[in-house]
This record gives sequence, C-alpha cells and structure tokens, in this order.
Amino acid sequence: MENKKILVTGGAGYIGSHTLVELSQASYDFVVYDNLVNSSKVAINRVANIIGKDVVFEEGDIRDSKRLVEVFTKYDIDSVIHFAGLKAVGESVEKPLYYYDNNVNGTIKLLEIMKEFNCKKIVFSSSATVYGDPKEMPVTEDMQTGQGITNPYGRSKYMIEEILKDLFISDSSWKIAILRYFNPVGAHESGNIGEDPEGVPNNLMPFISQVAVGKLEKLKVFGGDYPTKDGTGVRDYIHVVDLAEAHVKAVEFLDKNNLDKPLIVNIGTGRGYSVLEMIKAFKKVNQVKVPYDIVNRRAGDVAKIYANPKKAKELLNWEAKRDIEQMCQSSWDWQSKNPRGYSIIDE
Ligand code: NAD
Ligand code: UDP
Repeated sequence: MENKKILVTGGAGYIGSHTLVELSQASYDFVVYDNLVNSSKVAINRVANIIGKDVVFEEGDIRDSKRLVEVFTKYDIDSVIHFAGLKAVGESVEKPLYYYDNNVNGTIKLLEIMKEFNCKKIVFSSSATVYGDPKEMPVTEDMQTGQGITNPYGRSKYMIEEILKDLFISDSSWKIAILRYFNPVGAHESGNIGEDPEGVPNNLMPFISQVAVGKLEKLKVFGGDYPTKDGTGVRDYIHVVDLAEAHVKAVEFLDKNNLDKPLIVNIGTGRGYSVLEMIKAFKKVNQVKVPYDIVNRRAGDVAKIYANPKKAKELLNWEAKRDIEQMCQSSWDWQSKNPRGYSIIDE
C-alpha cells in the first residue's frame, strides 16, 4: 500500500487530463482509471510532461467490477473523481442502451466497489443539461431538474444524480459532490493538452477551431431565430482550467466537511455568450477566418442557458477567473499546435 490516492475515472479525457494537472499542483496523489474509449494514452504522457512526474495509469472499464477490485486492492483509494462516461448527445439518441449501460450501470458498479472498500467520497461530473429547458435565468441549483431533457445522455446524468441522492439517504457517511458543468472550452496554457473529439465535432468550440485551422470548410450556426440578443443560442462557456480547479476545491470541501446531503453546485461563469459572439471573439483574438452559414435549429437545443455560480463561490470559494478571450486563445493554441489532436505515432 502506498499513500492515499484519488481515483480519477475518465482521467485521460478532456476535462480529466486538465484536472490531473491541477490536482498535482495542489499536491494530491492520484491514479487514473480509463478504458480509453474516447481518449488516448498520449494525453497521459503529455500530462506527465507538464507536471514533471509519472502518472499512474490503470486501464479499465468502470463496468468491470473485477478490474475495479484489483485497482482498489492495489492502491489506498481515499476518494474518487468520476469523469468516466460517454458524452455524445446524438450518439446517445441512436444507442440509448449503450449510454445507460456505460454511464448509469457503470456508475452503479463503481459505487458498489467503493462501498465494498469503504471509500465513500465522490465528486461526480454532472451537466447543466439536467435542468432541461429552464424558464428562468440564471439557473440556480434548487431549480427543477429531470423535466424537458431531450436525450438519453442528459437523462443518464439526471438518473445518476438521483442515484447518488438515494445512496446518501441510505447511508449518510457518504460524501458526495455533484458538479453541474456548463460549457467547458479552452485548453491548458502549454497548448499540449486539449479537447480532441473523434471525427466531426458536435460542440461549438472545437468546430470553430477546426474551421479556423482549415480542417473543416464552414461552421453551421444552428438557428438564427431564437429569442436571444442576436437570434443565436446562448451558453455559459467555462474555461476547462477553471473547471479543473473547481474539482480540487470540491475534493478539499469533502475532506473538510460533514454533509447532511450531497453537495450540488453549478460550475459556470454566470455569463451567457451567443454563437455569433463566440465566432467574433475567436476571430478577433486569434486573427483567423471562421466562415459560417446560419442554418436550421438543431433538434433538442435550448435557446439560452447560463448559471448562477454564487453557490460555488460561497461553499467552495471557487469562481471562474478566465475570460472569453483566454478561452478562444487557448483553444486555438492547442488546435494549431496539434491539428490532428493526439493522433501521432512518435509518443
Ligand atoms: P471525455 O470523453 O474526453 O472523457 C471521458 C473519459 O471517460 C474518456 O477518457 C473515456 O475514454 C472514459 N470512459 C468512457 N467510458 C468509460 C468506461 N465505461 N470506463 C472507463 N472509462 C470510460 O469527456 P469530457 O469532456 O472530459 O467529460 C468528462 C465528464 O464530464 C463526462 O462524464 C461528461 O459527461 C461530463 N460533462 C462533460 C461536458 C462537456 O461538454 N465536455 C459537459 C458536462 C458534463
Ligand atoms: N452550435 C452551432 N454549431 C455547431 C455546434 C454548436 O451553432 O456546429 C451551437 C448550438 O446550437 C448551441 C451552442 O452552439 O447554441 C453550443 O453548442 P454545444 O454543442 O457546444 O453545447 P450544448 O448544446 O451542449 O450546450
């Protein structure tokens, strides 16, 4: 047995890899557990480079109880940051069973093994999508969830939140933090880790970056007739490094406090930007061209959503520090340095 460690499921992924850097800076020890279904070992090597030491990596699936037992036996795991899961909205509509199995069943398996090893501290990656199509803005954590979610991915997040709440009701010695992320974008300042979507990106920022780098021809702006400032969709974009820092704060909070219910916090900036504002900021900051057409709305999109981030400030002493320029600049830095993402052969 070695020192107490944090198990980071999905730690090879976009948000996970950035969180490893912040955990290391805060002197936490961790083990990454990932099946690499949507990520690459190269990301782990890059993190090791940034932090200047090896990253302990265990390949495995969260649905594989036997493998989880091996890992929990090998290391003294004190808490879990649980990023592992599938996140492509469109794919979740086509393959709902695959999504519920990975996200919901996978989380249940993980929680069972945590319980078996008396490891009862977990930070879970939830999403603003649990709010559905909220009528009031900005959204606060006490607003209704579960209604109006348009896809299995979003419902899997809602279901896991409910499971975690029930788990706490059954045994209040669990310490649970549910972080509802808004729209993570950007990359580490080194430009060596970032978001590396497979195929054509679904999300706005990687799509803009790939148009700017010439990999894709034109951006389609989904909908120009929303009841928003300029007719395009409004979101609360948050720099991934700010988001990563929120995880360190959440772990510290769980370490220090006894809770009478799961902690649920929004992780956003509190500011909404439209698609056209994002394109404008990206072009200006990076001095690049981003050709686009305004096309029909994308099914399942809401017009506008942004967070009230006060609770995170009050309880976690966390707030977003990086602005939209830094988000656009770092996305571009990563994309231009790594036009093919992590798909290189010499690392
Ligand atoms: P990502 O796909 O880059 O990372 C997820 C990681 O989990 C990947 O490395 C993948 O290989 C791994 N994984 C998937 N299924 C697994 C399984 N069954 N067993 C082991 N590992 C598995 O995604 P991300 O953007 O870093 O997101 C991390 C978490 O945050 C996810 O749970 C996601 O749903 C959630 N989230 C993401 C966003 C976003 O916009 N990126 C927004 C809200 C919530
Ligand atoms: N969007 C767009 N074109 C794209 C991808 C996204 O116009 O190619 C818009 C989308 O309609 C939404 C915003 O950009 O208003 C953010 O979309 P994303 O998929 O990044 O996040 P989410 O829908 O999950 O909030």
